[in-house]
Amino acid sequence: MCACGATFSHCEFWQRIGARAFGSWEDVDVERLNALKATVDRTRHIPALASKKLAPAQHQLVTEYAEYFEKIYTAAAKDTRAQVVVDSSKHASLAYCLRWSPKIDLRVMHVVRDSRGVAYSWTKQVRRPESPTGDQMTRYSPAKAAMLWNAQNAAFSLLARRGVPVRRVRYERIIQRPRRVIASLARFCGLDLVESDLNFIGDGWADLGPSHSAAGNPMRFTVGRIPIRPDEAWTEDLSDGTRRMVSTLTRPLLGRYGYLTEDEAPLRTRHAKR
Ligand SMILES: [Zn+2]
Repeated sequence: MCACGATFSHCEFWQRIGARAFGSWEDVDVERLNALKATVDRTRHIPALASKKLAPAQHQLVTEYAEYFEKIYTAAAKDTRAQVVVDSSKHASLAYCLRWSPKIDLRVMHVVRDSRGVAYSWTKQVRRPESPTGDQMTRYSPAKAAMLWNAQNAAFSLLARRGVPVRRVRYERIIQRPRRVIASLARFCGLDLVESDLNFIGDGWADLGPSHSAAGNPMRFTVGRIPIRPDEAWTEDLSDGTRRMVSTLTRPLLGRYGYLTEDEAPLRTRHAKR
């Protein structure tokens, strides 16, 4: 189900994109694409994709895979007369594939959030509104969520060290100063904004227009004014044991992102502060 309410194959926007990018979605070799995805776009392939040079065979597979994305982004940009296309997917492995595309000018926004909040969110039951059979969003145990959090965040740091422009933003900062963060991200993408371009965001709210997100959080179906407020339920509802476990598993990056309170920080940091 597209966010506009039509199914993907009936959404006029996505049909135009498919026609522009591939002639038609029917012309996409889905088996080939799935095989390529399994071969290159997986977290376990990141160490190989992070190297400075790829073996010719692998280089060819990665650029073939990235070309599908390049065609879709180009079609979306032309259709909407946009200068920048935002791919809201979140897996680091895709960014590692796209960095090998000769045509994509890749910039990455790396949103970080406290691992304890992330672990809490992953345990919640959320129904997929697009699913007629009442499927749930994916869930992970807190330990699994902590390990994924480590892997994905570490991968984005490494990506920056490989020369890809990566802008790290704390989730809490976006909630506190949404307008300022969006303005700064626009500059990061090379966009010249004027103040009135940001009239859709105010203090604690945003006005959302209709959209065509084809997957993701059920929030994508919301149109109109939405409140922007921090989701801090985890600070009350996460059990002490789980909180301790996730803190231990993710401590190095939690510290680097500034998420450890004074009594959670390791001893030597506390001494250093004095
Ligand atoms: Zn749509």
